[in-house]
Amino acid sequence: MTSVDLIIIGAGPGGYETAVRAANAGLKTVIIEKEKAGGTCLNVGCIPTKCFCRNAEILRDLSRSEEFGITDLTYTFDITKVVERKNQIVDTLVNGIKTLLKNPLITYISGEAKFISAHQIHIEDSVGNLQEKDFSAKNIIIATGSYTKFLPIPGKDLPNVLTSSEMLNLTKIPKRLCIIGGGVIGIEFASIFNAFGSEVTVLEFCKEILPNFDNDIAKRLKQSLKAQGIKIINQAAVNKIENTENDYTVGYELKGVQQTINTDIVLMAVGRAANIDSLNLGDVGIEFDRNGIKTDQNLQTNLDGIYAIGDINGKCQLAHAASFQGRRALNDLLQKSDNIRLDLIPAAVFTYPEVASVGYTSDFCKEKGIITKTHKSFFRANGKSLAMGENDGIVKIITDENEHIIGCHILGPHASDIVQEITALMNKNATLQDLNQIIHAHPTLSEILLAASEE
Ligand code: NAD
Repeated sequence: MTSVDLIIIGAGPGGYETAVRAANAGLKTVIIEKEKAGGTCLNVGCIPTKCFCRNAEILRDLSRSEEFGITDLTYTFDITKVVERKNQIVDTLVNGIKTLLKNPLITYISGEAKFISAHQIHIEDSVGNLQEKDFSAKNIIIATGSYTKFLPIPGKDLPNVLTSSEMLNLTKIPKRLCIIGGGVIGIEFASIFNAFGSEVTVLEFCKEILPNFDNDIAKRLKQSLKAQGIKIINQAAVNKIENTENDYTVGYELKGVQQTINTDIVLMAVGRAANIDSLNLGDVGIEFDRNGIKTDQNLQTNLDGIYAIGDINGKCQLAHAASFQGRRALNDLLQKSDNIRLDLIPAAVFTYPEVASVGYTSDFCKEKGIITKTHKSFFRANGKSLAMGENDGIVKIITDENEHIIGCHILGPHASDIVQEITALMNKNATLQDLNQIIHAHPTLSEILLAASEE
């Protein structure tokens, strides 16, 4: 058995970034990955979907060309080229990670890791050419991510019932697409495939889409998506999928009445579950529940020196959350303190228009008895938005009774970039007055925040 300073299981954004930081801090590190370096984010998540989003954006712009004085355009759209471009971008980034991990202090191992004792790991490799299969370390970081959950309903295993990963390798654009789940994945794919020309229906169990986001923003997004031709059915409990020769039928109950939708492809997007099964956690006493591995504020499990970061701990299923949890875990094991605010994690949904959010919603504050004020501004009053022809949207800044900014929720163009300014201000406990005194360049979309601060 080889002894090292740190073992990291999983080379997604949590795992590989932490490995590089650990090596830079002088730790002899082993990182083990059973699939491709880069994890869900890079291979089948954030990056590939953003490639598809860009295609959707171009198609939308083309469909509006007359508005911008361009007429008589003819074009064809080839999904195989879209997939090819996406694969090239993913390959470039995966190779970049491999280069980053080429560090004398890092050993990258392809294989599947499991615990044999609290501080010992055994690796199985499918090729069978590993020289050394057993490693021990005082510190181990588990960063094994998550997998797509499937509703336990009849028909879930039929061939055209796909995960978001499989949707990224389609060779043909479906005429009809039925999406089960109106959360982040469901709504992003609805927006993309609507632009690609599919007839999209979203079946969402809750009263509103994006149940974890500001309700008003979700409502406005729904209106906008509906206006673009996406059918969204809320309070739909999907209970079966059947197929006939040429059709798939998705059955769901809506207010006590059984209904059906006919489709060509079904996308299952009802959440993701932690990849804990093959780790042998129970035998070595690492505590977990159905949400994932239990951790403290420093991402340490119930066992000393064993950490769990990213989707695996069920705290926040976002790539940037995993990276920063990795930084905290590493700092903790190096006995260093930091000022990382793990409670302030911005989130973005890459729909058209985009959604972004950081901090509390007014509904949450109401529930907790926190007194708030909401400051709004609208993209239709922002010069740059009008010039871009992108004027659908709103910004809501939430302040507490001392005017400290405690949340921000945006629907509109480049919402995912705009929210970062508020995240920075919230990190510094800034007030609305602080924001109001910052000079914003004109004409920019960021001025929308300044406008909200005038309220
Ligand atoms: P999610 O939890 O965001 O949404 C799942 C949705 O499915 C919920 O709205 C839920 O109410 C609905 N649902 C559950 N059972 C249902 C049923 N029987 N019938 C109809 N609807 C049902 O999960 P997701 O969209 O699968 O995404 C998984 C994770 O990946 C999320 O945590 C998300 O934040 C993350 N993610 C993030 C991004 C991003 O940051 N842009 C993109 C994609 C995914």
